[in-house]
Order: sequence, then structure tokens, then C-alpha cells
Amino acid sequence: ALVVRQRMKNSGRWASVRAVVKELEEKCGTPDARLKQIADALNVEMHAGLASEGGSKIKMLISYVDNLPTGDEEGTFYALDLGGTNFRVLRVELGGKERGVVHQEFAEASIPPALMSGSSDALFDYIAEKLAAFVADEERIYEQPAGKERELGFTFSFPVMQNSINSGTLIRWTKGFSIDDAVGQDVVVEITKAMKRKGVDMRVAALVNDTIGTLAGGRHSDPDVSVAVILGTGSNAAYVERAQAIPKWHGPLPKSGEMAINMEWGNFRSSHLPLTEYDNAMDADSLNPGEQIFEKLISGMYLGEILRRVLLRLAEEACFFGDEIPAKLKSPFILRTPEMSAMHHDTSPDLKVVDDKLKSVLEISHTSVKKRRVVVELINIISSRGARLAAAGILGVLKKLGKDVSKEKTIIAMDGGLYEHYMEYRKCLESTVFDLLGDTTGTSVVFEHYNDGSGIGAALIAASHSLYLDQKF
Ligand code: BGC
Ligand code: MG
Repeated sequence: ALVVRQRMKNSGRWASVRAVVKELEEKCGTPDARLKQIADALNVEMHAGLASEGGSKIKMLISYVDNLPTGDEEGTFYALDLGGTNFRVLRVELGGKERGVVHQEFAEASIPPALMSGSSDALFDYIAEKLAAFVADEERIYEQPAGKERELGFTFSFPVMQNSINSGTLIRWTKGFSIDDAVGQDVVVEITKAMKRKGVDMRVAALVNDTIGTLAGGRHSDPDVSVAVILGTGSNAAYVERAQAIPKWHGPLPKSGEMAINMEWGNFRSSHLPLTEYDNAMDADSLNPGEQIFEKLISGMYLGEILRRVLLRLAEEACFFGDEIPAKLKSPFILRTPEMSAMHHDTSPDLKVVDDKLKSVLEISHTSVKKRRVVVELINIISSRGARLAAAGILGVLKKLGKDVSKEKTIIAMDGGLYEHYMEYRKCLESTVFDLLGDTTGTSVVFEHYNDGSGIGAALIAASHSLYLDQKF
């Protein structure tokens, strides 16, 4: 009788497991028709954001980059790249048309989590210290021409309202940063003050978003690059717009007739987005509730966390991991997207990697292969939804540019850890874009990974704009 009761209990549990999976699959559905609606909705928001400041949830920020690198850039430039969990200092030697990027080197450091929610001074002091160390190191190797101040391109990957190519105020933080006293401040003034405090002699020649840097870095190697997309901790896109198609731009018409726009698409939202109870709860618990909804569906910071929330529900409602709920599973952000990706790519017949990750990350052992398969099924649902939504975003941008119908070659410069390392996501994203475009134009759109294009791009923009500064003074 005990055995029979146990069996009935098990089959009841299994039925609830299937119910949870099925419901998730339905709620996360992204049929092509819906993706097209999302692309159209994004397109409408793009127009609204360009029409007036604050006209849309997506800011469509003017970058003041009105001529992208041509390849003529020459000299030694520096870049500072602050975005997700790491930041980098780069030194780039540009040799003009003939020689291109002659040489580059960089140093990387992780941002101590405490600094992500501390004070503005503490963060910028830390960065300036690393910069000082990099320069000191370099001085032992290179000779800096006397009297020449070092020029710096600052890649700052958060929404910034720019006032010029080298000034701009932080609109708000994203991606786990929340340093209240920095909001509304000019980040160039802040880093410049910190550099003074730490004795670093550099001038910020350009302040750019990572998407703008990637666009510039991509364009430097290929003139067909006109869109850049970052899929990393956060997500965003930039593209080259006709200056005349930007009603909110009241400045002089640039010679090139063009202006690079930092979309800040992470803050896109639409009733067409397939949001689940897990997404809503994660959003409510986040540092920025109600904001960056698109980003929370597609980017690396959040995919693993969504999975954790679904697994927790399975543990609670269907005793998926036994009678007790594994303690670790209750800990927010413990399950990171790289781990989720590793499980997704597990090709072993008994899903060894899944078993390993459940053990090492969540301290859950003795899962059956059948259960591991469920985990992979969930991963696939969450990851495909993200990748397909990102594809819809790209379609929206291509539409704005008329590239969804044109046969002209368009290169999309891609970067970010999610795109770089999560192959299933990347494959799904790219094939969805081609599917949505259809056979006629699919072949004219090309994805190109520009690894760390944003740092080099910032140095390139610093190079072209340092000329401009020199002429001015
Ligand atoms: C930020 C963007 C950035 C993107 C990718 C988002 O959270 O708002 O400015 O480009 O992350 O790093
Ligand atoms: Mg980055």
C-alpha cells in the first residue's frame, strides 16, 4: 500500500511539473507574427523618441558622433571601458589608412560589488587608481612625447544625456549599479576630478556608450557597418540615422548629414512582450522596478535568474528536488547565465553537465536524467524567448533604416558576453532575424562579432574628436 501511495504521489507531482513547464512554454511563446508586431512597436517608439526628448520610453539619445571613423586616425589614444561587471583600460596605437590599428594593449579589473552601490567618488577613485597604475606601468616601457596630454575615450555603458561629445549627465543606472549621488552628474566631470585626485594627467576627448563605440570600431574596419548591438550583462543598440530624420536635434546639420543614435532599447516595453509571473516578480524585486523591461527579458544579467525562479516554483509546488526546498535555490542571482549556457550545451547522454551545475551551484544532488531533461527544457524556453525577442528588436531597427527590404549589404556589429559565449542563443537570434527577413533580403544582412570593438571605437572617436578640440583651442 505504501508503494502504491508513493507512486500516486509521484505521478501527481510529475503532472504538476508538466503543468508548470507547459504554462511557461505558452506564456513565453514568440510566434513570428508576434515578433513582427514587436518590431513594429519598436519602430513606432523609435520615431517617437527621435521626435521629442522624453517622447518615448526608449530615449534615442544623440551621441554627438556625427562622423564615424574613416581609418585616417593616427596617434596613441587611450580608452576606459566601464559597463558590466568588469572594466578595462586600453591603449591603442593608430597608424592611419596604411597601418590601421598598429598596436593595442589593455588591463582588466572587476568592479568590487560594494562599489556598485556606494558613492560616486568611491567608484571613480577606484577607476582612476587603475588608470594611474596602467599609465605608470606603461611609462616604464614607452616614452610619452613631452607636453602632450594623453587623450582618453571614455566608454560608459549606461544611459547618458550628452551635451557634447565629451560631456553628459547620467540619466539612471542599470545592470545592478545604483549609486544615487552620481545620477544627474556629468560623468566626465566626475572622472576628471578623480583623475586629478589620483594624479593622472589625461583629458577625456570623447564620452561614448558601448554601442556607439562598437559602431565606430565596426565602421573603422568595414564601411557597411551601420548598426551595433550589445548582448551582454545588459542590452542595447545603436545605429546611424540621417540627421534630418531627428526632429529633436536643433543643432547645426552635421557635414556628414548623419548622427549616431544610442537607442537605449533596454527600456523598451510593449503589451506584445510575453511577460510571465516570473518576469514580473523579478522586476518588482529588482533595483530598477518598471524599468529596462526588454533588457530583463533578453540580457545576460537576467536569464539565469528567471530560470532560478522557475526552478524554485517547481521545488515549491511539485517537490521537484525532493521534499525539502534546496536552500541555495532561494538565493537571488545565484544561478548565472554562463552556468545556464553550459547546461544548455550539454551533449552527454545522461546530462552530466546539468548534474554538475545543479550540484556545484545549487547543492542539489541525485537528480534523475528525466529531471535534468526538464531543466534543459526550461532553459531552452527562456533562452529562445530572449534570443527571438532580441531578433525582433533587430528587425525593428532594420525596418527604421529601410534595410528590411533593401538588398544593400548591412553589417550588424555585435558584441557582449552573451552573444560571444552562448552559442544556442546566438544561433537562435541570427536564424530568427533571417527567417523574419525572408529569403529575399536575408542574405544582405550580416552579423559580425567585433570583440571589444567598444574600447577601440572609443579610442577612435577620441582620436577624431581630439583633432577637433585642438583646432578649437
Ligand atoms: C545600458 C546601455 C548599455 C547596455 C549594454 C544597458 O543596461 O543602459 O547604456 O549600452 O546596457 O552594455
Ligand atoms: Mg562591455
